[in-house]
Amino acid sequence: MKDLSYPLILLFFMLRTILSGQNVVSTVDGLLYLDGTPVSISIEEGKIIDIKPLPDSRPRPQVFVAPGLIDIQINGYLGVDFTGEQLNLEGMRSATRALWKEGVTTYLPTVITAGHERLYKNFAILAQAMEDDEIGPSIPGFHLEGPYISPVAGFRGAHLEKYIRAPDWKEFTAYQQAAKGGIKLLTLAPEAEGAMPFIHRLIKDNIVVSLGHHNGSAAEIKQATFAGASLSTHLGNGCANEINRHNNPIWPQLSEDGLSISIIADGFHLTRDEVRSFYKAKGVDKTILVSDALDLAGLEPGEYVRGERTVVLTPNVIKFPAENVLAGAASPIRLCVGNMMAFTQCSLAEAIRMASTNPAALMQLEDRGLLKTGKRADLVLFTLEEGEMVVHQTIVSGKVVYRK
Ligand SMILES: [Zn+2]
Repeated sequence: MKDLSYPLILLFFMLRTILSGQNVVSTVDGLLYLDGTPVSISIEEGKIIDIKPLPDSRPRPQVFVAPGLIDIQINGYLGVDFTGEQLNLEGMRSATRALWKEGVTTYLPTVITAGHERLYKNFAILAQAMEDDEIGPSIPGFHLEGPYISPVAGFRGAHLEKYIRAPDWKEFTAYQQAAKGGIKLLTLAPEAEGAMPFIHRLIKDNIVVSLGHHNGSAAEIKQATFAGASLSTHLGNGCANEINRHNNPIWPQLSEDGLSISIIADGFHLTRDEVRSFYKAKGVDKTILVSDALDLAGLEPGEYVRGERTVVLTPNVIKFPAENVLAGAASPIRLCVGNMMAFTQCSLAEAIRMASTNPAALMQLEDRGLLKTGKRADLVLFTLEEGEMVVHQTIVSGKVVYRK
């Protein structure tokens, strides 16, 4: 009998190459987001190998091309709550695919204040997602927001008071082990007991430290920055409604040169004037757009029950209908890009910088956040329609992951 194993193996490898290669692109034409010039981007093995002016012989592209969007604060998407009890790998896959449709090529799943078991369990699931062949390239790490934040009403926001605690290195190490080292960003309150030595240890472990949900004094903010904190989490939110006009956490965070800020420019969480003022104080280099979207984002608008309360998802934000107050964000950052341009008159290039280049730099993701030879081919192709960024195609590592 003839041995059939060799031709069968050969066929298997040929089929695998064809199947896995079907979405791989080698050239992308588009209008460069920096200045609108038509360019052709060559891609090989998932990386940008060349960017050159588009030859006149080729049709002029109708879409802009920019580095993929990077969201460092997102709590969930399409009904998948990254802190939720139901979290599993399949949910992570559907949330990631839904984010690709919004032009997001990289994100840090954000886990907020919860009990010990939940944090431990969910970080283990996120670690699986980070190593997953399909979605892993879009998940370089995670953001832990809490539980070491202010327990005071207003400052703690929607975080559950009963789970808020003082920084505990042993406890954090257990989460980091469950996360297989994936926790890359941590939001805490600088006034929490033991925060300063805790920040020192985080920085030593190369974890980015952000100040958020806090009522730190100017001295505490300065000290935390000196210890290595480099960001303020969603500045202007996670703050009580009534604060002292002189001594409040917002001024020192705005004036502190060592701190960048993240902002939720969804048009609901900050007023237009807050966005403009924060942007003027920090400038384009130190401003980062985040969605801070809740799990309901991406679902059909309507009423949803969360715990014992009913919330209403409008297309762009989540509200408590009875009080008509905000319950959470639901705008993917592509919408914040358009808002930022409308609110501040910044250019498209500047808005993309705040939604891709700056978060990549903050998180030391050196392979992304820019359209440059040698960078990973993470691209978003889009049009601007009435000021809104409309995604036509998303490419991760040279592979088309979404096409309109
Ligand atoms: Zn928050």
